[in-house]
Amino acid sequence: MASSVSEFSVDSAPLTTESVAFRSALDVVRQVEPRIAEAIGTELADQRESLKLIASENYASPAVLLAMGNWFSDKYAEGAVGRRFYAGCRNVDTVESIAAEHARELFGSAHAYVQPHSGIDANLVAFWAVLADRVEVPALRDAGVRQVNDLSEADWAALRRAFGNQRMLGMSLDAGGHLTHGFRPNISGKMFDQRSYGTDPVTGLLDYDEVRRVAREFRPLILVAGYSAYPRRVNFRIMREIADEVGATFMVDMAHFAGLVAGKVFTGDFDPVPYAHIVTTTTHKSLRGPRGGMVLCGPGLAEQVDRGCPMVLGGPLPHVMAAKAVALAEARRPDFQGYARRVVENAATLAEGLLRRGATLVTGGTDNHLLLVDVSGYGLTGRQAEAALLDAGIVTNRNAVPRDPNGAWYTSGIRLGTPALTTRGLGVAEMDEVADLLHVVLSATRPGAGPDGGVSKARYVVDAGVVERVAGRVADLLGRHPLYPSVDLG
Ligand code: PLP
Repeated sequence: MASSVSEFSVDSAPLTTESVAFRSALDVVRQVEPRIAEAIGTELADQRESLKLIASENYASPAVLLAMGNWFSDKYAEGAVGRRFYAGCRNVDTVESIAAEHARELFGSAHAYVQPHSGIDANLVAFWAVLADRVEVPALRDAGVRQVNDLSEADWAALRRAFGNQRMLGMSLDAGGHLTHGFRPNISGKMFDQRSYGTDPVTGLLDYDEVRRVAREFRPLILVAGYSAYPRRVNFRIMREIADEVGATFMVDMAHFAGLVAGKVFTGDFDPVPYAHIVTTTTHKSLRGPRGGMVLCGPGLAEQVDRGCPMVLGGPLPHVMAAKAVALAEARRPDFQGYARRVVENAATLAEGLLRRGATLVTGGTDNHLLLVDVSGYGLTGRQAEAALLDAGIVTNRNAVPRDPNGAWYTSGIRLGTPALTTRGLGVAEMDEVADLLHVVLSATRPGAGPDGGVSKARYVVDAGVVERVAGRVADLLGRHPLYPSVDLG
């Protein structure tokens, strides 16, 4: 069967520019530490051989990957463009300015801060920008001073107490929210007094009346929207109305769905940028850039956001900002909109294929890039399902479902996402095959016996021959859609 066109296909042969570039880079590394060169090569081989359904992962283009491996890594550049604490940053300024310009243009945002090293870091920058704007600036004004070093000991102590007394409202973890939205194991939960809004117990959908009720009662400083495992769109216009009603700053963490915003699949009420005071994101998930984060905001918060480094961030990573600029330039091309559309179509088709085979999906389906399968319908925990699928070469991650009786470790769900497979060139025709592979493994898997003879939540048994047969079908499917077809490491 003919192989389909991957996002990074090239027609030149036999040795492409990409092959020469990666081979040369590995040759140089090999001369110093051959084991690392080997591990890099093995990672590519592993990625080529696995059916990646991790909703938060993707494959960055060769241009993005290559933009990261250079001497920008050697530069310190604390501060912001034109206001560095180090000399000699003119080329870093160029890179950071271009990345920020692409981000502003792509998302229609007044300001973009491209330094955060990850999504968690971007959220920390945003939290402290809001705290500075709404707690520190008024305190300085009241005390009649310009900066915190000028405060009396008593005023400084009062300000520090005020920082620790602020409230945040975000989506509950088991409804699909993220740990950084105020949960105790994360620094955000130690900084803020937090409350959560959940989803409707029957439909699994976000209940805006309930968000409004909790917001009115709790009156948060920050209302957070955004998720890691909620398979539906969020109406940001309604969320902003709620924030305005209770005087909250409205923050959206679009880490998961930034690619769908960039690709104009989420528009109108579902585009967070016109509605949020501040937006954070990762750059490596559906946006398909390097590992990293970003913050977008209006002019009101820009100055505080730009203090991210050294406020909460370590020195910027200029080589990663260079790769962010390349990825954002790619996302501004018209074909990225086609990619984003295909991601969502693929998720919908995968959901239909699973539902037709009898699987249970949280909320009954999806309208974004991810779906959450409740594997208790197969008599399994998420951990058993994840491990059995991995045996057959299918990479997923276990995930709690709302009000999960198995908790966050074993869970009752697996989360599936289509950004990576879509980059690889799989389309709706292949999604039914993927649904079948998942269903075949899950329906052939049973809980194993625990060490005490009872039913284990971790051990599992798969009917004889199923893993081998599915692994063969996975290899056949992936063989028709080669990953990084322009890269031959020799
Ligand atoms: N925010 C959300 C909604 C996420 O899903 C994630 C990661 O999964 C993050 C933030 C954290 O991103 P990172 O791992 O880059 O810090």
